[in-house]
Amino acid sequence: MANFRTHFGVALGGGALAAYAGWQASLWSFNEGWPLAVLTAFGGILPDIDSDHSYAIRLIFTLLAVLAVIAGALWLQSRLAPGPLVLACGGLYLGVRYLAGAIFKRFTVHRGIWHSLLASFLCGMGTAAMSFHLLDQPAPMAWIQGLALSGGALIHLLLDELYSVDLVGSRLKRSFGTAFKLFDYREPGNAVLWLLLGIALAPWLPPWATLLELVSRGVAPWL
Ligand SMILES: [Zn+2]
Repeated sequence: MANFRTHFGVALGGGALAAYAGWQASLWSFNEGWPLAVLTAFGGILPDIDSDHSYAIRLIFTLLAVLAVIAGALWLQSRLAPGPLVLACGGLYLGVRYLAGAIFKRFTVHRGIWHSLLASFLCGMGTAAMSFHLLDQPAPMAWIQGLALSGGALIHLLLDELYSVDLVGSRLKRSFGTAFKLFDYREPGNAVLWLLLGIALAPWLPPWATLLELVSRGVAPWL
């Protein structure tokens, strides 16, 4: 199993390379490019979010807490006096960082559903939906951001799988095949739940036609 640093480094490197290439090819501007690298790096640590002691879970919940504080401050600043506003933001931070983190740990198993292709794709779809509706990104950019996150998560799963091959003796370690899975076979109920979430997400996604067009444009030069 690859460690946190490897996951983060490889995903960030891959994301930065793709972001740079797209910028050079005028697919996006520099300012659109670097968040793609960040999203890929984030995707690269996401599958390990359910390992209770990983850096990933701490980092992700710290990031989510900071995002919650920013969103909360923007939304509440016209509604609250400065004193209560600071208190509310402090509460938000602690709530997301520690309470949500603890609840999350309680209900997840390591290398469970988060460590799967299904989760990787659904998290990418969620990213696309959020950036399309909440951040008002144009549909192609929203899809590209979703693809960046999914891409990072795929890099993670591939790395874990590569690390389970003993390169010296070319034997397979017992963990082979546990990282790169469609969903968590031990808990099919979870997979159904995630699929339902995906279906619920569908109306919020940017148009599928845009994604198809992006993919066909991306694939065309290789044919
Ligand atoms: Zn992993």
